[in-house]
Amino acid sequence: MQLYNSLSHKKEDFIPRESGKVSMYTCGPTVYHYAHIGNLRSYIMEDILEKYLRFTGLDVTRVMNITDVGHLTSDGDTGDDKMLKGAKREKKTVMEIAKFYTDAFFADCKKLNIKTPDVVEPATSCIDDFIRVIEGLIEKGFAYEAGGNIYFDTSRLEKYYVFNDFKEEDLAVGVREGVEEDSNKRNKADFVLWFTKSKFDDQELKWDSPWGIGYPGWHIECSCISMKHLGEYLDIHCGGIDNAFPHHTNEIAQSEAYIGHKWCNYWFHVLHLNTNSGKMSKSTGEFLTVSLLEEKGYNPLVYRYFCLLSHYRKSLVFTWENLDNAVTSYNKLVEKLVPLVKDKSGETDSAEYDRLMKGFTDALDNDLNTSLAITAVYDVLKSKANAATKLALLAEFDKVLGIGLISAAEKLAESAESGAADIPQEVLDLIEQRKAARKEKNFALADELRDKIAALGYEVKETRQGTEINKI
Ligand code: AMP
Ligand code: ZN
Repeated sequence: MQLYNSLSHKKEDFIPRESGKVSMYTCGPTVYHYAHIGNLRSYIMEDILEKYLRFTGLDVTRVMNITDVGHLTSDGDTGDDKMLKGAKREKKTVMEIAKFYTDAFFADCKKLNIKTPDVVEPATSCIDDFIRVIEGLIEKGFAYEAGGNIYFDTSRLEKYYVFNDFKEEDLAVGVREGVEEDSNKRNKADFVLWFTKSKFDDQELKWDSPWGIGYPGWHIECSCISMKHLGEYLDIHCGGIDNAFPHHTNEIAQSEAYIGHKWCNYWFHVLHLNTNSGKMSKSTGEFLTVSLLEEKGYNPLVYRYFCLLSHYRKSLVFTWENLDNAVTSYNKLVEKLVPLVKDKSGETDSAEYDRLMKGFTDALDNDLNTSLAITAVYDVLKSKANAATKLALLAEFDKVLGIGLISAAEKLAESAESGAADIPQEVLDLIEQRKAARKEKNFALADELRDKIAALGYEVKETRQGTEINKI
């Protein structure tokens, strides 16, 4: 398989260090708010990557952290603590906030068919590991104490800007965000490993350390959690593109300084989901969630399908219209599958199977080209293969794609059988009016019509196949 590696800026053959095994690390969510559908684009594409690696026969171990401490509103160690901000906003403790949004994150993942990584580790469970690595970095001369905090000394590295795209002037973080720059830093690019004295006196979570009571910086958690579970060598590290700098750059700096050799071979970065008005932001609270999609009647798996239609290395614009187009194309696919799930007859034709399977693997072998993988789904449906062959292929594809086409078609076939024949015309008319209201985004009217339909004894639901109607 060929994958684009952000470290080399080119597509490379993906070759794990140990034959047949892959160690994979993913930066997990900062759990001070719901994940937005932009965050979830990254997790969907990382899930596809993991599943495809497994599909090709590799034994993947995947680790993810949960950031429940240390992430400040600016990735450059300035601003407020995000967790503390979340706790204040909701008048809860930091740990309550962390638990609530961690659960919410995995509930969203489940709805999107995103597999939970083999290991999920909250930063707050690993404080001793962080302290040990920071001590090691101080011993090796890569870290220093200043103003009570411990900093990583980037001037000790031959090359700090490993992803090449960033320059010193990009680091004017403090200035840009109207927050004072940290005068303790010896070099602009230095970053905090451990905070003791800082302006965050009301920091809720604090731990004892050799440098006084304090809390860890954000970057150290990923290095430590990865090394703790996957050892000194990592095959592939994933995250959204905003994490490349400074977060991943700092992870590499401190990990390699600590272990004394190259740490991770491949870096997989997902480009952002944007809206027409720009980037979605958790910190401003202006963002779309999976629950909101559901409230508006969209099936979360259609959002997954929407993400698969674009390549992960291109930024993707979210509009309702684009999502509606994905709904239409998803529903068409499901409809095409209905005759297949009704007639599963025939023996699998292995020559056709292999030919069509190759279309799918060729697509994903080419830097995880998911939109071509969807084309491979169409190729199966258009082919002359029999129903059994087609279904066998689509079931295999779905182990990676995770868009549930077969089960959606089965459900549609079932509901068609149970029949709309005896639904009164009055109800059918209201359903049509409701569809039109939803199309115009008049959700208040759509809700009103749903109530009218309910009063006539029918429940109307939006499902992945479109509108479903059942007798109450
Ligand atoms: P956070 O919870 O803010 O730490 O972010 C979780 C993940 O979402 C990280 O991998 C980010 O790089 C990624 N991310 C943040 N914003 C977006 C976006 N608009 N589109 C795609 N991924 C994003
Ligand atoms: Zn990370």
